[in-house]
Amino acid sequence: MGLDISIDAIVANWRSLAARAPGARAGAVLKADAYGLGADRVAPALHAAGARDFFVALPSEGRAIRPLLPGDARILVLSGPLPGDADMAGLIPVLNSAEQFFRDRVTRRKGAFAIQLDTGMNRLGMERAEWAAVRSEALAAVTGDGTGPALVLSHLANADEPDHPSNAAQLAEFRAMTDGVTAPRSLSATGGILLGPDYHFDVTRPGIGLYGGAPFADARPVVSLDLPVIQTRAVRAGEGVGYGYAWTAPRDCRIATVAAGYADGILRALSGSELSLWAGDRACPVVGRVSMDLLTVDVTELPDMPDALSLLNERQRVDDVARLAGTIGYEILASLGTRYPRNWS
Ligand SMILES: *Cc1c(COP(=O)(O)O)cnc(C)c1O
Repeated sequence: MGLDISIDAIVANWRSLAARAPGARAGAVLKADAYGLGADRVAPALHAAGARDFFVALPSEGRAIRPLLPGDARILVLSGPLPGDADMAGLIPVLNSAEQFFRDRVTRRKGAFAIQLDTGMNRLGMERAEWAAVRSEALAAVTGDGTGPALVLSHLANADEPDHPSNAAQLAEFRAMTDGVTAPRSLSATGGILLGPDYHFDVTRPGIGLYGGAPFADARPVVSLDLPVIQTRAVRAGEGVGYGYAWTAPRDCRIATVAAGYADGILRALSGSELSLWAGDRACPVVGRVSMDLLTVDVTELPDMPDALSLLNERQRVDDVARLAGTIGYEILASLGTRYPRNWS
């Protein structure tokens, strides 16, 4: 019962993504609590497997895992220092603008830092002109660990679409902006790793692929989720079920009520979709609206009522649920929330 998370599968996925980019060091992206699965478990397991470069979004996320990792682990904070949270002790800020860079050099004189370049995504990082103003001072900066940035990175906007012309355009821009840079370079998250060796550079940054999601089609599944059935009832043809009577029984049927809802990441947008919960190999349609803590399921066809019904399993994976909700696997994982009992293997 609850959320089963396979650390073995996460480690196996990390190893197979590392093997796809043999010339590069594979890092690991642990932002948003390792995509909702628990950075406190994932970080030490991946360190034991050999990962040394860990990426989080926020300083607070970095501080949460710093005590769990040995000193040889680098924790890079992708969003950099934030207004109101600039404490980077034990962390490596990713500096995303000239202003951040110059302020950082004043306030953390010898502190290690990384640089993010915007090569066309138009989201975060220094563009060409800004980088030109910073570049020589950044490359010559002396830190406790040596000279220059710990990493120079950029991020691809369309890596999940191999044929998108922006991939090659961003690659060319990254090359042009980092030509002559001897600091380690990083361009690829999961999608970029799969684009091939031109995209690998020195360090890769897989996130979703570790956790079993697209676009890493060969990923081992990482999560399964069983939800407790807390009540069943007979519903007559014509009666409504749940808020708004959004579903009306077309025939006499049996409805199971399950203890999970949109507060647990079962997005309300799944109401009225083709979503099913599973009893072994039998699909039971979710009917009516998803409410905060409860789901209703048509179990008329089941010969016996199980204690639990499964939302995530071999037949219905994170990306399948995402498709039904009109979103991506990342959002389903990151939304799972903290109310499930969690089992690790
Ligand atoms: C989220 C993120 C990643 C990881 O991306 P995936 O698609 O989950 O592999 C890597 N780099 C940056 C800058 C990110 O924001």
